[in-house]
Amino acid sequence: MTSLQDRSRAAVWHPCTQMARLADVPPLPIARGDGPWLFDTDGNRYFDANSSWWVNLFGHSDRPLHDAIKAQLDTLPHVMLAGCTHEPAVRLAERLSARTQGRLGHVFFGSDGASAVEIALKQSFHAWKNRGRADKREFVCLKNSYHGETLGALSVTDVQVFRDAYDPLLMRAHIVASPDSRLGNEAEALAAMRTLLAERHASIACVIVEPLVQGAAGMVMHSPGYLKGLRELTREFGVHLIADEIAVGCGRTGSFFAWEQNQADWPDFLLLSKGITGGTMALSLVLTTDEVFSAFWSEDVTRGFLHSHSYTGNPLACAAANAVLDRFDAGQLEDNRAQADRLARAFTPLTSRTTHWRQRGMILAFDVPEAPPRFAERFHLAARAHELLIRPIGSTVYLMPPYLIDDATAAFLAAAVTATLNDVLA
Ligand SMILES: *Cc1c(COP(=O)(O)O)cnc(C)c1O
Repeated sequence: MTSLQDRSRAAVWHPCTQMARLADVPPLPIARGDGPWLFDTDGNRYFDANSSWWVNLFGHSDRPLHDAIKAQLDTLPHVMLAGCTHEPAVRLAERLSARTQGRLGHVFFGSDGASAVEIALKQSFHAWKNRGRADKREFVCLKNSYHGETLGALSVTDVQVFRDAYDPLLMRAHIVASPDSRLGNEAEALAAMRTLLAERHASIACVIVEPLVQGAAGMVMHSPGYLKGLRELTREFGVHLIADEIAVGCGRTGSFFAWEQNQADWPDFLLLSKGITGGTMALSLVLTTDEVFSAFWSEDVTRGFLHSHSYTGNPLACAAANAVLDRFDAGQLEDNRAQADRLARAFTPLTSRTTHWRQRGMILAFDVPEAPPRFAERFHLAARAHELLIRPIGSTVYLMPPYLIDDATAAFLAAAVTATLNDVLA
């Protein structure tokens, strides 16, 4: 009998994967999930230490999420959002708006993270154009930024392995020095941004940033002060600011929006996806201001934002997102703070042969200076033997676990990571 792995290799083109490596790195055949654990078809279990690419906030098979989706399935699984509206979408938009005190009170619905980036880039350009500033059409991103894989999103992404093959196809964005807590360079990064904006602001529509943590760059962190500085600069030079909270939103960094940790005014756009449905349905959201929204308000249809996708505002996905927000209304953030402390305590003794320990809420990362070739792949494979599903980025090992960290799971993670590290560096 052919294994699920062989069938998958033949028929399924896996994402973010060199398919020729699958013989050496066979995909885990997963049958079911329960809490932080995934179970393969032989019954072996694995702790989902990266929340399945940062989406499963409450682990797997979360009862309240499933119940919300089932209830919605029995009433209205889908209806188009042009010419119709429905309670789950309206409620979700109202609740997100309220979380920004109404400052980002207009919500557009996308299908995934990259599509949210596309929507925000288009809205920024189009808002300027509608105001008679069609010359503001350039985009700015940070060094090592990641905003998704479609051509527009990739144009504001600076991760070489994802970008280089398609470079000839991409729009020419400005790529500016990024802050990195390991380098202590925030003042220089802001100065570089000032230089660019001072010179080119008449042609620039927006700056896009991953607040507090550049995830795909390898959990590169900066302080809330950098974001405050960036907000001040973009205001000074009349440029939109897009906060891409696709990875860092939904309580991951200690506040519901990472943006809330600085004392600055809100960004012009804020993007959510990944955790917003807790790993159940694909959905993204673009939140924006009265100012941007009103630029599209006209009797002229073509001045409107005519973008759509077939499943825009899908009720099942909105019901799931509302159930996620219920958790935050019921005190999830306080709980997360206790969980983050537990993680920090459990990992404190584990410092030999590692550097640059850093943590922001429920993201913990460190670097491995003596990492051997193919470290990420080797670590991932070795970890399986310790019941751990984890995918390092380069020589950075990170945990972005479900919000299910008690003393036992924290101790388990520290022991499994230590054992894996010992195997790989042996
Ligand atoms: C994952 C991610 C995206 C892209 O989201 P997809 O759903 O994978 O398209 C964009 N920005 C950031 C910061 C991300 O982490």
